[in-house]
Amino acid sequence: MSAIKHRVKRLTSQLEEIAQRGLDRHIRLGVTGISGAGKTAFITALVNQLLQAESHQLPAWQVMHQGRYLGGRIAPQPDLTLKPFDYSGAIVCLKAQPPSWPPSTRTISEIRLALRYLPDKGLAGQLGRPVTLYLDIIDYPGEWLLDLPLLQQAYQQWCEQIWPQLQLPAWREVTEAWCGRAQALCADATEAEIAELAGEYADLLLQLKQRCGASLLQPGRALLPGELAGAPVLAWFPLPPHRLAELPEESVLKLTLESRYQAYRDQVVAPFFRDYFAKLDRQVVLVDCLSALNQGRDQVDQLAQTLQALSHSFRYGPGSLVTRLFRPRIDRVLFAATKADHLTVDQHHNLLQLMHSLMRSSRRQPRYFGTQMETLVLSAINATRQGQVERQGRTVSVISGTSLDGDKSVRFPGEVPASLPGNEFWQAQGFNFQPFSPPDWDGRDALPHMRLDYALQFLIGDKMR
Ligand code: GDP
Repeated sequence: MSAIKHRVKRLTSQLEEIAQRGLDRHIRLGVTGISGAGKTAFITALVNQLLQAESHQLPAWQVMHQGRYLGGRIAPQPDLTLKPFDYSGAIVCLKAQPPSWPPSTRTISEIRLALRYLPDKGLAGQLGRPVTLYLDIIDYPGEWLLDLPLLQQAYQQWCEQIWPQLQLPAWREVTEAWCGRAQALCADATEAEIAELAGEYADLLLQLKQRCGASLLQPGRALLPGELAGAPVLAWFPLPPHRLAELPEESVLKLTLESRYQAYRDQVVAPFFRDYFAKLDRQVVLVDCLSALNQGRDQVDQLAQTLQALSHSFRYGPGSLVTRLFRPRIDRVLFAATKADHLTVDQHHNLLQLMHSLMRSSRRQPRYFGTQMETLVLSAINATRQGQVERQGRTVSVISGTSLDGDKSVRFPGEVPASLPGNEFWQAQGFNFQPFSPPDWDGRDALPHMRLDYALQFLIGDKMR
């Protein structure tokens, strides 16, 4: 008898376990943005908030506000082929004396969190048992998303699009010498000559990024090759369209460049979209408007074009390229203007308006496309404190923090325009939003931030009801 009882008990607990597993949830969140946008800082801060779970830090996140969040832990990573996101390494940098910013994203990486909470709805709510939401955070360079249009372009078409951009007056100083060498390359160029020019093309893109603030650059892996550094699949570059047209069909140069372009498209870009992008449920796109403002008008224009190109990846209209090829399932996208702690709080509204004006119509995604878009201004890790000082009888809002060379400073960082200023403005004055060192932090409390709780509510709040 007792053996039967024991078996029934075991069966019941197995059934309960299966039911429990059915209640557990799973969500894959992509985090992207052009390099320097703040992806590493954002993921580090998000994981830190979820692990330390301090309710006063996350009031707008409902599951926390309602006292239903029980805590989080880092769980074994599901995809063993991906580099793990180095959370503990990032925490070591931030806790160090003096603290430093963790190394930026160079390739795709992943971290899985198991978040325990008490549901308030459905069967799970009725059972009154804790449920686990598995949150996989996938960090990848925004530069890789910008390769999407390559999937429907032949090499010739790509050259017709890219070559005129390299001739832009603002970029000419950087590009002229390389363009001359590409133009002069002979039809039977050797493998070594092609590889050398490809290496120089990658350097050229980096120069355009650093000196001209360019961000709409292709191919994305020339800038951030990840595990493909040095592989022949990256050893190609654009030729002037007229030169390409006059090359004999069988010329080594033409055949090599065309076949590598195709290999890149089919073996690098397509698998990235198919294996990773198409499996995301939610997406954050981080946008650093302040660095673009610092650099000038052309850079802000570039940022606007880049944002529109990025948001194309999330437009799943009937017949769109990405829908046809990959059946993506992202249903919420958050565009977040980062590093808001560089500003006084009264400027945050303007920063949001500026990002809206840069995104233009791409912000208004028709609802029937199935993707909800939201915008937000946030700071992943506050490196400054807000304050006020009296100046000539007036109260002025300021921020205080530690500059990158270690000096404590109190600054009035200036105003952010709510829309893109005209040419006269840029000629008369510019912007100077200076970077700060991370805050002094001993790890006892969660990292200071602004509006990560709003981000959490939008990104996973509905899955924790
Ligand atoms: P990634 O290339 O997108 O991974 O960018 P990172 O996360 O490495 O950020 C680049 C740099 O931006 C950092 O080294 C910091 O200097 C700065 N930064 C990023 N996020 C924040 C933030 O929330 N506040 C402040 N003050 N600086 C930030």
